[in-house]
Amino acid sequence: MKTTTILTVVGARPQFIKAAAVSRAIRASADFHEVMVHTGQHFDEMMSDVFFRELEIGKPEVNLAINGGSHGAMTGQMLEGIERCLIDRRPSWVMVYGDTNSTLAGALAAAKLHIPVVHVEAGLRSFNRRMPEEVNRVVTDHVSALLLSPTMIGVRNLESEGITRGVHHVGDVMYDAMLHAQKSSRESSTILSELGLAEGSYAIATVHRAENTDDPVRLQKVMSAIDETAAGLPVVMPVHPRTRQAVERHSTKLGSIRTIDPVGYIDMVRLLDGATVVLTDSGGLQKEAYFARRPCVTLRDETEWTETLEHGWNRLWTTPDWQPRSDIVDYGTGQAAEAVLDAIRQHRH
Ligand code: UDP
Repeated sequence: MKTTTILTVVGARPQFIKAAAVSRAIRASADFHEVMVHTGQHFDEMMSDVFFRELEIGKPEVNLAINGGSHGAMTGQMLEGIERCLIDRRPSWVMVYGDTNSTLAGALAAAKLHIPVVHVEAGLRSFNRRMPEEVNRVVTDHVSALLLSPTMIGVRNLESEGITRGVHHVGDVMYDAMLHAQKSSRESSTILSELGLAEGSYAIATVHRAENTDDPVRLQKVMSAIDETAAGLPVVMPVHPRTRQAVERHSTKLGSIRTIDPVGYIDMVRLLDGATVVLTDSGGLQKEAYFARRPCVTLRDETEWTETLEHGWNRLWTTPDWQPRSDIVDYGTGQAAEAVLDAIRQHRH
């Protein structure tokens, strides 16, 4: 009997991908039922709809269509909208992912109504409170009942903030998602031939963090660094809408970087699989580069995914060399979604 209702709050691209893995496990379970609420933070065909279609996530039952505006305005509207859904549905759990405004709003709305929150991707820290994502992570973790961390470093970060109850290391649901997409991407994606790219002879780049896009000088530095690091390799960059606007606003020079519209996940996994090197400020891509066993250069001054640095698959743009390479066991074996559901089953309020 599907007696336990989980209300999942998603809103941004990486959350659709992570939620796809857990939703699949929920559908296959005998005891869980899911209500999906989309805040609308990411909203168009290529930032949202394509993921629901390709990853076979059911259409969200509710779409709050909240996007744009300042952090406070957006989060405030989300809080109000999510609270209404929670009062209406009275779920047993609210599930949130990662570190966006949708994560924070979902967690806060639930905690105030005494509905237990499960935070998937808990415990990550950049230790840079100027990042909006860091504030979202810290607050979300402190109001969550169940804190599911992809890494042991995450577990230790929580411990050092005094959070030990309800903490589990479950592995990375993004690894589940990527393994699932990899097979069909090799069979069905035609993106390499569409773009005229040869397997193993191009770099893939993404830039979207506010810390890189908001300041024109910094944005130019990042784009120039991509061009230089690729050292003559063709660079393909699916451009996030925020970055597209910033590049136009600041007339940023892109050198030989070839920009394309954002792509769906199946094409993205194919692009990653065929790349020589990954250049990114994305959290997700740093790990996906490792999953595809491609070296990564992170275009930031710190990262939450420090094990990717220690195991030699990733380096910060300020550090010239990679450490010697070894496998990262923390991310698990592609069964993290099952571990998420088991942790909920075992939780005693
Ligand atoms: N991604 C995608 N299409 C794109 C760019 C990224 O499917 O055009 C995927 C990428 O593979 C990763 C996720 O989106 O799984 C990362 O999202 P983003 O970089 O927006 O967020 P972050 O991971 O930094 O939170």
